[in-house]
Amino acid sequence: MMTERCAIIWFRNDLRLHDHEVLTLLANSVDVLAPVYCLDPARFEIQPSGFPLTGPLRARFLIECLEDLRAGLEARGSGLHVVVGQPEQVLPALAQKLGAREIFAEREVLGEPLRVERRLAAALDPLGISLHGYRISTLTHPNDLPFPVANLPESFAQFQEAVTAGGEPRAALPPLQRLPGYPAGLSNPTLDTLVQVLGLSAGSEAGQPSGFEGGATVAVAKLEEFVQGRRASLESLRGSGSEAAAQADRFAPWLACGALSPRRIYQYVKYSGLTVWAGELANAVITGLQRRDFCRFLAMKRGERDEQSSRPPAWDDEGLRERFELWRQGETGEPFVDAHLRELAMTGHLSSFGRRLVASYLCHDLGLDWRWGAAWFASQLLDDDPSVNLANWMEATGRWRAFEEPGRLDPAEQAARRDPDGDYCRRWLDGNAPVIQRFG
Ligand SMILES: Cc1cc2nc3c(=O)[nH]c(=O)nc-3n(C[C@H](O)[C@H](O)[C@H](O)COP(=O)(O)OP(=O)(O)OC[C@H]3O[C@@H](n4cnc5c(N)ncnc54)[C@H](O)[C@@H]3O)c2cc1C
Repeated sequence: MMTERCAIIWFRNDLRLHDHEVLTLLANSVDVLAPVYCLDPARFEIQPSGFPLTGPLRARFLIECLEDLRAGLEARGSGLHVVVGQPEQVLPALAQKLGAREIFAEREVLGEPLRVERRLAAALDPLGISLHGYRISTLTHPNDLPFPVANLPESFAQFQEAVTAGGEPRAALPPLQRLPGYPAGLSNPTLDTLVQVLGLSAGSEAGQPSGFEGGATVAVAKLEEFVQGRRASLESLRGSGSEAAAQADRFAPWLACGALSPRRIYQYVKYSGLTVWAGELANAVITGLQRRDFCRFLAMKRGERDEQSSRPPAWDDEGLRERFELWRQGETGEPFVDAHLRELAMTGHLSSFGRRLVASYLCHDLGLDWRWGAAWFASQLLDDDPSVNLANWMEATGRWRAFEEPGRLDPAEQAARRDPDGDYCRRWLDGNAPVIQRFG
């Protein structure tokens, strides 16, 4: 009798069923497949910094993504097993229990997720279980770059020119119809169970809905809506101020957790809606995706040295810590800056301009260590992406000149130009008390 081939796919920041190379491969090559997600409770606990690594808004978004993924897997004859604990501890035991000889997982590019991979590989090795890594998060696959990652140019303009000249990215794969069987007896928890595990309340912890709903289903619908031109006012919104710009496409939260594939976006904006799409807007989205790729490849090239030097230092001055706390709360006294910081605290999102403004204020006006600002962004942003966050903060401090962004932004000058009637400030400042906890 032939033995069944059983494998585990460990979902990380690839929470989708569309355009998923490895899932497509496994769908046709294994008999039993266990889709697994590991929830590490430590990520949701308050740190000595006064805030968690993953704030409540992103935690909710993540749970919605997992719930959507679970529903999609079930509809294809599978399921999603969510394990609470550290991957390097729970996955080897699970593989042994299921008799799986292989674990497939997306490879990360930076920091703790990369160290987890190494620890997991070391734990699996003596058990004779293989860990197969794959990379599906970028528009251009690393193997298709016109140069080895080690020779990546450190200027985005040069990178973009070379990659664009290199031709089209790989085509997005069609959605899967059916998946291999789910292992008998493996649990398949619901959203409520996950909310309890993380100790979150059913509503948003910040007291207001974030305005974003997690999951690939929402993301794909949003993409279709966008391409069909239903957001008719998009073009006028784009150039008219930071709040308006923030209303633009906003794909970043779904891209960051892999609920939306960059190649799917590329294909849609380039080929599906040419009659309704202004070419300039399509180019802006594609440039955004290339910037994201650039940050990821830069992290692969530069490796751990940048990440290590980006860890927030301990506070040795109470005055600085208090100043940071006022920044985080949106209580600096500079209205345009505070309005943006409160938007971030309440929604988990901020326009690109808004991020540059508050980052500039923290570094250049308050004279605070940028690493604290980056840590707050990482906790709060729905689209937290360590390599993208790091590269953009390095740019804001002036340490890197990869994007050739201007240096310090003058808040009053920017407010006069982008919010001349004060509508944006009123919206976020009036009656909006800070919604985040102070240092304990
Ligand atoms: C200090 C600072 C920190 C940032 N941290 C993050 C982060 O953690 N995660 C994140 O996704 N973006 C980050 N950005 C980049 C950018 O602000 C957001 O990607 C963008 O605002 C998301 O909005 P959107 O989806 O409407 O993007 P669009 O402008 O429509 O672009 C489409 C996509 O391209 C990518 N993109 C756009 N701009 C950039 C950029 N400057 N660098 C890299 N990728 C980009 C995003 O994935 C985005 O969804 C940061 C920017 C700054 C200045």
